[in-house]
Amino acid sequence: MSDVIVLGSLNMDLVVRVGHIPRPGETVLGRDFVTVPGGKGANQAAAAARLGVPVEMVGRVGTDAFGEAMLANLRGQGVGTSYIRRDPAAPSGIALITVDERGENAIVVAPGANGRVSREDVEGARELLKRARFLVMQFEIPLPTVQAAIHWASQWGVRVILNPAPAQAVSPDFLQGVYCLVANETEAEILTGFAIRSLEAAAQAGQALRRLGVPVAIITLGAEGAMLSTEEGDLHVPARKVEVVDTTAAGDAFIGGLVAALCKEMPWPEAVRYATCAGTLATMVLGAQTSLPDAARLEAFFQEGCP
Ligand code: ADP
Repeated sequence: MSDVIVLGSLNMDLVVRVGHIPRPGETVLGRDFVTVPGGKGANQAAAAARLGVPVEMVGRVGTDAFGEAMLANLRGQGVGTSYIRRDPAAPSGIALITVDERGENAIVVAPGANGRVSREDVEGARELLKRARFLVMQFEIPLPTVQAAIHWASQWGVRVILNPAPAQAVSPDFLQGVYCLVANETEAEILTGFAIRSLEAAAQAGQALRRLGVPVAIITLGAEGAMLSTEEGDLHVPARKVEVVDTTAAGDAFIGGLVAALCKEMPWPEAVRYATCAGTLATMVLGAQTSLPDAARLEAFFQEGCP
């Protein structure tokens, strides 16, 4: 039995470093081409598995080589892949990424098989889901599928953790049945209309999300850590000051840390401190899945006493 199910996206990131990002019609010579498994769903599944949580992923890849490579990568990270379908009708999801010398990037995402994750996939994983404790989802698969999964999971007593990324507006109805929403500043602003430029505004946005029917709202605030809003009030959890190398996947590491903490039955303030430590550790290493901390590293950083 898996404690955590992640229903979401898998993408292969195709990355080339360039002197400058080409203008329309221009060709530039890049450095070596690298392929890096990504996608928010896969990253979050890997983040939780790296911390020792039993995780199963539900999603789709194509029947192509990228799909095989992504499945092998996830298995290598300890994520169960039996419920990831190989869809003959669409290519695997990819992101074409060019990064220039200043770290600016230009990205094209072709969702491919991720765009075909459907209610049938959720129904196909019904027995798995019913036995899980948490269902983690993002917005990189079709929203009607996410909504159906929220509905069923909440009926089956599975706690839904929703990360509404990339940011998209949804109706309040959509959020009914969500147990915990984890949004960054942009995502929270799109859902609530609050521009989050201060801790006070973050607390207000958190409470606004709670008024939409979500019992627990967490807004991640980059270097400022995170704001937790529950019926007991608001709590700002600061992040430790560190040498930041690359913030890619910090939000995904945060979610991994959060579900690991919740699986250990940590109370909310403690769980958000744990998640914040996981996010911060991910900013200290280059890359997405490569930067996700393991349990020993996170435990040590957490015990050192995040502020
Ligand atoms: P996203 O990457 O989804 O936009 P955030 O930027 O809010 O999410 O980062 C998620 C978490 O990662 C934060 O809550 C924090 O714990 C950690 N984090 C991000 N940036 C920094 C930073 N500059 N210093 C320390 N921790 C950071």
